[in-house]
Amino acid sequence: MRSLADAIKTKYVGLFRRIMKRYFRCTVCDDIHYGENAPEICPTCETMGSYVEVTKDEAKEYFL
Ligand SMILES: [Zn+2]
Repeated sequence: MRSLADAIKTKYVGLFRRIMKRYFRCTVCDDIHYGENAPEICPTCETMGSYVEVTKDEAKEYFL
């Protein structure tokens, strides 16, 4: 049985996930992706699984 507390927790975890956007960098072509999850295939170099999560500061270096 689902309790009310569980329902509230699920709702807030979902909300948190939606606003938790992160930076990912393609290790092959240094393409930066900003979003909740890394793309499966890099749209620039078409390599599968080439993205690694980077910090905002790291991502900034590649934007410049
Ligand atoms: Zn790439």
